[in-house]
Amino acid sequence: MGIPMNVLILNSGSSSLKFQVIATDLDRIKQNADERLCRGQVERIGGEAIITVQNRNGPRQKLAAPIRDIAAALDYVLRWLASDRAGIDEIGSLGDIHAVGHRVVHGGELFKESAIVTDEVLKGIEDCIDLAPLHNPNNIKGIRAVREIFGQKIPQVAVFDTSFHTSIPEHAYLYALPYHLYRRHRIRRYGFHGTSNRYVAYRYRTVHGITREQTNLVTLHLGNGCSATAVRAGRSLETSMGMTPLEGLVMGTRSGDLDPAIVNLIAAKEGLSTHEVEALLNSQSGLLGISGLTNDMKVLQAELDEHDDRRVRLAIDMFCYRARKYIGALLACMGGADAVVFTGGIGENSPAIRARICAGLEWTGLKLDPDLNAQTLAREARITTSDSTLHAHVIPTDEELLIARDTVRCVLGVPHPA
Ligand code: ADP
Repeated sequence: MGIPMNVLILNSGSSSLKFQVIATDLDRIKQNADERLCRGQVERIGGEAIITVQNRNGPRQKLAAPIRDIAAALDYVLRWLASDRAGIDEIGSLGDIHAVGHRVVHGGELFKESAIVTDEVLKGIEDCIDLAPLHNPNNIKGIRAVREIFGQKIPQVAVFDTSFHTSIPEHAYLYALPYHLYRRHRIRRYGFHGTSNRYVAYRYRTVHGITREQTNLVTLHLGNGCSATAVRAGRSLETSMGMTPLEGLVMGTRSGDLDPAIVNLIAAKEGLSTHEVEALLNSQSGLLGISGLTNDMKVLQAELDEHDDRRVRLAIDMFCYRARKYIGALLACMGGADAVVFTGGIGENSPAIRARICAGLEWTGLKLDPDLNAQTLAREARITTSDSTLHAHVIPTDEELLIARDTVRCVLGVPHPA
């Protein structure tokens, strides 16, 4: 194999910058032999930031430094990467980073696949700011910071959370509102977690030796944000998140589906603006809102085991019930599937939640194997009995790997599989 490309992967948020460096090329992609050189994140940007860094599979180091913005965070990360402290032999200087791949939240209707960042693409990402005012501006700051530090010549690639869902048909993505609202403001469902969905669908078909067209799944990405997607013939057919990530499943702090009339009612009764209500639906609802305790499922489960608290049980019940409801709905949308795939922090690590979601789904042909389920933590495995007609699998997601691979493909001008 030749010398791989060292791809820096960036996920720029409002107060955090997550990064990884993955060494890969077309041969390594084919052989699933990509190499992760390091990973880390800068949190609490804007003040005394906490920096967590990890070289390959070495121990995690925690550092602290005052960091004012994303550009300063990137500068800090790059200096660490090239330093002896990092101990990454492949990276001695900035010149050893060959390309940068960015997670971009919203690509609207414009970006059906990942794209090399040109001025025109940057303008397109800016045009989508209206659709993701909290996310796209930070993603753009990340892209600009790379340009400032590396200059124009380093290739940058944008990988969009929404791209995978651009295959959803019109009758599924439109809201039943006056049609001109779609025309004027592009109000429609877009869906998110697309890169995660693409990754688990790719892993599923690779492990099973089937083609994309033969891949029929309901994927459940259950992390802090949660979504369910119908993948039919390898493409997204329907998904639970909407115009924004607020729609659909019960999440850590988001309500998911609700009657839109509730927004004005809460505003009137609680003396809040509709913006404040939207913030409440995004950051004070979901598991946190119902339990009154935390958005962290691991903590909620421990609390339930120890104290059997009623509101904690209710929060978990609602979470699992909504997920089950969506599995049923998506199976109906796609006319049945071969497997339900669990991913994301909760989906990968919590057999108890997976069991609660699957309880009562026997009518679909899904028979959970309690032992396989209990044994499967953060690794790929089937968790249903061999005679199930609808299987369930756990596939840990790896969005960064897909971003690195898309970056290499875009830079080399090779078309990427969905
Ligand atoms: P994000 O969406 O921010 O990437 P993750 O995918 O890491 O988040 O998922 C975070 C969620 O996963 C949290 O609710 C966390 O409690 C949950 N989680 C992680 N490990 C476990 C576990 N062992 N049992 C239950 N929940 C877990």
